[in-house]
Amino acid sequence: MKYVGAHVSAAGGVENAPLNAQAIGARAFALFTKNQRQWHAKPLTDESIAAFKQNLKDLGIKPRHVLPHDSYLINLGHPEKAGIKKSRDAFIDEMQRCQQLGLKLLNFHPGAHLTKIDEETCLDRIAESINLALDKSEGITAVIENTAGQGTNLGHRFEHLAHIIDQVEDKKRVGVCLDTCHTFTAGYDLRTEETCEATFKAFGELVGFKYLKGMHLNDSKPDLGSRVDRHESLGKGKLGLTVFRYIMKDKRFDDIPLILETIDSELWEKEIKMLYQMEND
Ligand SMILES: [Zn+2]
Ligand SMILES: [Zn+2]
Repeated sequence: MKYVGAHVSAAGGVENAPLNAQAIGARAFALFTKNQRQWHAKPLTDESIAAFKQNLKDLGIKPRHVLPHDSYLINLGHPEKAGIKKSRDAFIDEMQRCQQLGLKLLNFHPGAHLTKIDEETCLDRIAESINLALDKSEGITAVIENTAGQGTNLGHRFEHLAHIIDQVEDKKRVGVCLDTCHTFTAGYDLRTEETCEATFKAFGELVGFKYLKGMHLNDSKPDLGSRVDRHESLGKGKLGLTVFRYIMKDKRFDDIPLILETIDSELWEKEIKMLYQMEND
């Protein structure tokens, strides 16, 4: 069974996110547990935590189908001492917020070397950051998102994801989220069934589907291999609909959150409906 949703708003409190998901016909969702553009956040209140859990329960959404996303400011591969410390502290705080909410996953972009350290050193740092965060939390899986490879961001090659996972001590608490837009602009074609087959085969061999804990379903404004991160509504970009039909019909994508981060939230309800139709076509 497929669990499709979108990255919904948590304005007014995290407890509103499940309601916003339900309003668009979602069976899964993503959210920020704090303002994603600020370093510091007030702790979650007991009332907010209780209401969040109650809403999830009432709507029948399982914690493993919720894919929280961390702040965009965090860089777990930061080359400098002050920068890495700030990022690691903020990431641990985010892990703990997810834990308070009874969730299972935390999705993040791996990190950027800022041209100050080489790729391998940066990937090693990211793995060390994950180890530190797993030590300071319980029951939350750190879910590394593949990137478009924009600027000095790493995680655009499946080999990068494998390199990080290889150095994580607790393999049961590390996973991957593949973003279709990022995969494509990083240089892995997904426009036809044949290219989907080849790209996901490469992922299976280099990383492994047992690590796949979620997907971001986005069409892409930029072209294959452009290394630019710009999402588009489904069917309106360079990817087209084939990859989404492929995913909806493939068992390897069962039982994980499949999350829209497409640019027009007005279309989410329609996009979700279309995806569920593809599953049954
Ligand atoms: Zn994404
Ligand atoms: Zn993106």
